[in-house]
Amino acid sequence: MKIAILSQDPKLYSTRRLREAAENRHHDVQVINFMRCYMNITSHKPFVIYQGQRLENFDAIIPRIGASATFYGTAVVRQFEVMGGFSANTSQAISRSRDKLRSLQILARKGIGLPVTGFAHATQDIDGLIETVGGAPVVIKLLEGTQGIGVVLAETHQAAKSVIEAFRGLDANILVQEYIAEAKGTDIRCFVVGEKVVAAIKRQGAEGEFRSNLHRGGKADKVRLTPEERSTAVRAAKAMGLRVAGVDLLRSNHGPLVMEINSSPGLEGIEKTTGVDVAGKIIEYLEKNAAPGKTTDRIQY
Ligand code: ADP
Ligand code: MG
Repeated sequence: MKIAILSQDPKLYSTRRLREAAENRHHDVQVINFMRCYMNITSHKPFVIYQGQRLENFDAIIPRIGASATFYGTAVVRQFEVMGGFSANTSQAISRSRDKLRSLQILARKGIGLPVTGFAHATQDIDGLIETVGGAPVVIKLLEGTQGIGVVLAETHQAAKSVIEAFRGLDANILVQEYIAEAKGTDIRCFVVGEKVVAAIKRQGAEGEFRSNLHRGGKADKVRLTPEERSTAVRAAKAMGLRVAGVDLLRSNHGPLVMEINSSPGLEGIEKTTGVDVAGKIIEYLEKNAAPGKTTDRIQY
């Protein structure tokens, strides 16, 4: 197959591993910095130009679009889709997954377990908002944060009120969520490819930290998933229309709750912790599923 990896940095661990896995399986692979592509938008013969070269006839593309590059990155993915290429994740699924509120609404509609969540932009009724999620302690999140930045634990009603007022002053969209204390600063990252969880790790926040993000000093360990956790992760990815996804779960005392879904999940932490060849699983998935014009998206939201 002819495979394109859309990535801003060929040196990144995930990019290197995907290239290596594709080469090991004798595919013709090219890493393309999508930010430097330009496109010809025409109905006759649409194309993408990169480094003076016309990119055509790719059987499959693997988008690795960072959160800060969503707008242009998804436009390039869409162009490959228009040209008939199969994308490991569709441009629509990537865009959808970048909005935390939209993601939670889609998951809720499919009956997937979530922390009780309230949403507001400029409500006057802050007390009511805090009470709708069961009262303090609550977690308050900026809608477009990543890597744990913009996620605050407010232990008392007063603290929650101050934080919400501060965010409101900044004109930010926020989520207010029930705090799952029994997760004890850990979460589970499930790496989903197609209809399977191919690897999973448990992440534990640094001492005294409720956020388990590895970027915030969290540590990763192997973990055994329950069947319910597996099926929750697969259903969540499917609900979002993602074929490759990092689904983050909290272990609550009433079962697994989906906290968020990532459409360009990193490979380093999960491969190094579990020893699973996750990059190989993604290439294998493309071998089985990539066919021209098969990039479709049937999610209605
Ligand atoms: P980000 O996109 O910035 O990673 P998350 O929603 O994943 O934001 O939150 C960051 C971390 O905070 C999570 O990995 C988890 O450890 C912790 N966390 C988030 N929401 C909750 C919650 N409702 N209850 C308990 N812990 C939470
Ligand atoms: Mg997270």
